[in-house]
Amino acid sequence: MPEDLNAYKLISELKKNHESSVIACNRCGFCVSYCPTYNFTGSESHSPRGRNQIFRAIMDGKVPDPASAREIIDTCLLCGECTTICFAEVPTAHLMIQARDYLNRAGKPNFWMKFAFNILLPNPLFLYWILKISFIGKSLGFSWLLRKTGILKRFFPGIEAADILVNKVSIRFLQDRPEAQRFLERSFRKEETEYFEAQHRFSQMTKQAKRIPDKLKEKIAVRPSRPRVAVLPVCGSQYLRPSIGLSTIKILEKLRIEFIIPETTCCGLPAASYGALDAVRKIASANIERMERGRFETILTDDSSCTAHFKDYHKFFQDDPIMYEKAYTISQKVREMSSFFIQFGILDLLKKTKWTGGSVAYHDPCKAQYGQKITQPPRQILAGVPGLQLVPIADSDQCCGGGGTYCLVHPSMSQGVLDAKIKNIAKTKCQTVVTSSASCLTQIEFGLREKYPNIKIFHLSEFIANLL
Ligand code: SF4
Ligand code: SF4
Repeated sequence: MPEDLNAYKLISELKKNHESSVIACNRCGFCVSYCPTYNFTGSESHSPRGRNQIFRAIMDGKVPDPASAREIIDTCLLCGECTTICFAEVPTAHLMIQARDYLNRAGKPNFWMKFAFNILLPNPLFLYWILKISFIGKSLGFSWLLRKTGILKRFFPGIEAADILVNKVSIRFLQDRPEAQRFLERSFRKEETEYFEAQHRFSQMTKQAKRIPDKLKEKIAVRPSRPRVAVLPVCGSQYLRPSIGLSTIKILEKLRIEFIIPETTCCGLPAASYGALDAVRKIASANIERMERGRFETILTDDSSCTAHFKDYHKFFQDDPIMYEKAYTISQKVREMSSFFIQFGILDLLKKTKWTGGSVAYHDPCKAQYGQKITQPPRQILAGVPGLQLVPIADSDQCCGGGGTYCLVHPSMSQGVLDAKIKNIAKTKCQTVVTSSASCLTQIEFGLREKYPNIKIFHLSEFIANLL
């Protein structure tokens, strides 16, 4: 297709699908001072209003080189705060994802992004081994060496930023740990296979009128059942910090919940943040198929960001009614972890514990407070721990600047937003911070490491499991 025709087609699609949302912005400016990137730079173009206006100008063909607007569009943290306080509920974060998708389609394909989103993320085994090799390299000091020689800075600045951000890694992932292995889908499949093989042997022996051994009779007496609760293995609690996943398993066992860890892959949130929407649909379709196969009644994840993204799956299939319906059905089964814990009795278990570690502050991940409107259940859990004093963080509405991989791609903006968060945490004089997203946890831990190493941070699951 000639370039001009392709550009015309892309702009027409944008206008058809998103013009009504963009023009709902009446430029009142009410959202501006709530935006963390505006608060850091003070620049109108880094505000929700500025971003919506530039997107509108692109749609109207008033930006001769749309790629020149890339920085404005890409530096949105997608936190969603602006939409929550906007009277017209202009979905700025959603629009910025669409704008990124447009810029990706209109520009030259980025090899590394294509590799990450089309090959790496959809393939759990490949992802496992790439991360395993990288983490072994980090543990042996190779990444440190590459950083010191300047090689990472020159060729892979994102990997350098990740190496600095993440202090320690574990080379034993969640699925490598015996505590998790018996809940993996493949363990249930092994049990089922053994059952069907035993049943086959039983019928053969019956036909041949042979004596049936007692062991075989026992084996086929009860058909193994599959739990109807699925705990999705998300990247943060599986690879980055397996102690989160192990803690979640411990809590669910204490609550006597029967569950299974299905063979899904990354939820696709990094691809969505980059605006690689074809990759998002590919990853989501594969995950939806795996979840449908499991016929789960409840689907849990222990990361607020991934939970919000799973709940949003249907929004990526607006033009595909069949997939929309399937994704919507799955999204209705996705439950946020803290409210699930409360429903199944975590407060009763916590009554028997005691906290002696000083005051605790809770950080709300944006995908929990704006993406799912969840702020109270985690606080209810913490307040239910005898001896625990919960202290509020000033400007708790503001993002920490983590934004998944945002902190790796926009380190200066991310650091500016993080500095404000760290100052507010320090002002509380707390000794512990708790949050429910691995991305926020990694980002805040990085911010605390330099200036306030005495303040510790935990994922909510880790914090609860340590008490039980
Ligand atoms: S996004 Fe909403 S609050 Fe912000 S300028 Fe537009 S209409 Fe006003
Ligand atoms: S989503 Fe967050 S960072 Fe993006 S414009 Fe809105 S408030 Fe600002």
